[in-house]
Amino acid sequence: MAIAKRPSTEMGQRLFEYAAAPEATDHLKIADSYALFVGGRFVEPHSRRRFATVNPATEETLSEVAEADETDVDRAVTAAADAFRSWSRLSGAKRARYIFRLSRLMQERARELAVLETMDGGKPIKESRDVDVPLAAAHFFYYAGWADKLEWAFPNRRPRPLGVAAQVIPWNFPLLMLAWKIAPALAAGNTVVLKPAETTPLSALAFADICQQADLPPGVVNIVTGAGSTGAAVVGHPGVGKVAFTGSTEVGKQIQRATAGSGKHLTLELGGKAANIVFEDAPLDQAIEGIVNGIYFNQGHVCCAGSRLLVQESIVEPLLAKLKSRLGTLRVGDPLDKNTDVGAINSRAQLEKIEGLVNSGIEEGAEIYQPECRLPERGYWFRPTIFTNVAQSYRIAREEIFGPVLSVLTFRTPDEAVEKANNTPYGLSAGVWTDKGSRILWLVERMRAGVVWANTFNRFDPTSPFGGYKESGFGREGGLHGLAAYVELS
Ligand code: NDP
Repeated sequence: MAIAKRPSTEMGQRLFEYAAAPEATDHLKIADSYALFVGGRFVEPHSRRRFATVNPATEETLSEVAEADETDVDRAVTAAADAFRSWSRLSGAKRARYIFRLSRLMQERARELAVLETMDGGKPIKESRDVDVPLAAAHFFYYAGWADKLEWAFPNRRPRPLGVAAQVIPWNFPLLMLAWKIAPALAAGNTVVLKPAETTPLSALAFADICQQADLPPGVVNIVTGAGSTGAAVVGHPGVGKVAFTGSTEVGKQIQRATAGSGKHLTLELGGKAANIVFEDAPLDQAIEGIVNGIYFNQGHVCCAGSRLLVQESIVEPLLAKLKSRLGTLRVGDPLDKNTDVGAINSRAQLEKIEGLVNSGIEEGAEIYQPECRLPERGYWFRPTIFTNVAQSYRIAREEIFGPVLSVLTFRTPDEAVEKANNTPYGLSAGVWTDKGSRILWLVERMRAGVVWANTFNRFDPTSPFGGYKESGFGREGGLHGLAAYVELS
C-alpha cells in the first residue's frame, strides 16, 4: 500500500540508476541519398523526387530517399513479372538456397540492421537487436525450409505461385514486416514489389543490398520507396496477382475497394484493440510483466498490443499499485541506449495522434497516470500512460491509439470479461492471465481474436499463424497458413 500512495518514480530512480550504455553507430554507413531497387539494381527515380527520412529521437535527417511515381512502379512490376518466368520455374531446392542465404546474411549483418532500424524508427536497440532482426532472419530461415516441400505442405494438391506480389508494409516493425511478406512469397515461387513506410525505408533498402550480396536473380525482389500514393500505385497495378497489406484499417478498406473485382488475391493485416484479461487467480507479478510487455513494447506501436486491460474487480487495487510501481522503473529515452525500455514515437504525426486521443480520454472523464520521467529535449516522446475510470464508450477504449497508452476496465465474472473483450470492431489478439487451464480453454473458445496468448503476451514465431477477425483484416501470415496465401491450389 505504501507503494500505491507514493507511486514509482522516486523509488524507481533510487533503485534503477543506470549509466548510459549507448550502442555504437560507427560501423553503420547511411548514404546521403538512396535510389529505388528495381531489377536487381539501384536506379534513379523517374519522378526525380526525394523525401527525407528522419531519426525520431533527434529529428535529424538521416538520408534522402527516392519517391517512386507510377512510372517507377510500372518499371518495378515489369521487372518482377520478367523475373517471375524463371524464378517460378526454378526448383524448390534452388529457391531455398537463395532464401537461406538471405537469412544467413541478415544474421551476419544483424548489428548493422538493428542499429539502422532503431535510428530510422525510434525503437529501443534491445528490441531491434533481440526481437526484430532475429525474428526477421528466422522467417526467411523457416520459409526457406518449405520451398522444396510444397507438395508436402499441400498434400494431393498442385500449388502454383500467384505471380507478382504487391506488398505494402507499415513503420512499426519495418524489417520484420518485410520478412513476413517476402519470405513466404519467394518460397512459393512468386516475385515481389515491396513498398516500405515513408518514415522507415532504410532497413528495406539495406535488405535490397543484401539481395545483391546474395546474388538473388534480378527482379525477384524490388523495393520502391514513397508515400501513400506510391503504395496505391503498387496495389493498383494491373500486373500484380497478389496484394498483401499491413497497416491501418482505414487504408486496408481503401485497398479492398481498389482491388475488388480485379481477381487479385488479397490479405489484410490491420488494426487492433486487444483485451488483456487478468483473473483474480493470476500470478500477479508475472501478469504485470505481461501487461507492460503487452502495451509498452515498441512504444505501443503494435497492432496486437494489449491496449485494453480487463482486470477482475477483486484484484484491481493491488494490480494497479504494482503496475504503477513498475512503470516508474521503465527507462524512457535514447533508443540507442541498451538500457532503454521505451524509445521515441515514430513520427511527429503519430505523436500528435496519441496526444489527441489522450486528451479525449481526459475530456471524457478518465483518470490519467504517468510516471515522472525526464524526456529528451529534442525528438518525439510520450510517457508510458495508464487510464483508469474508463467507460467502454470512450474513444481511448474503442480506437487504436498505437502508442504507450493503456486503458483499464474491470469485470466481475468470466462471461462479462468475454463480453467486454469482444466488444470491439477489431479482433486481432487477446491475452488471458489465470492459474486455471480449463478457464484458458473456455475463454479461448469464446474470443473473437486471431491469437490468444495465455499467461504471456506478444510472443511471435515464424511457424505460428497470425491474423485477424472483423476489422483487423483477413488472411494469416506465418506458418503454413502464411505460405497458403501465396499459392493457388489445383
Ligand atoms: P497506413 O495504413 O497509412 O500505412 C501503412 C502503409 O500503407 C504505409 O506504407 C503507407 O505509406 C501505405 N499507404 C498509405 N496510404 C495508402 C494507400 N491509399 N494505398 C496503399 N498504400 C498506402 O498507416 P499510417 O502510417 O498512416 O498510420 C496511421 C494509423 O494507422 C496509426 O496511427 C495506427 O493507428 C495505424 N497503424 C496500424 C498498423 C497496424 O499494423 N495495425 C501499422 C501502422 C499504422 P506511408 O507510410 O507513406 O503513408
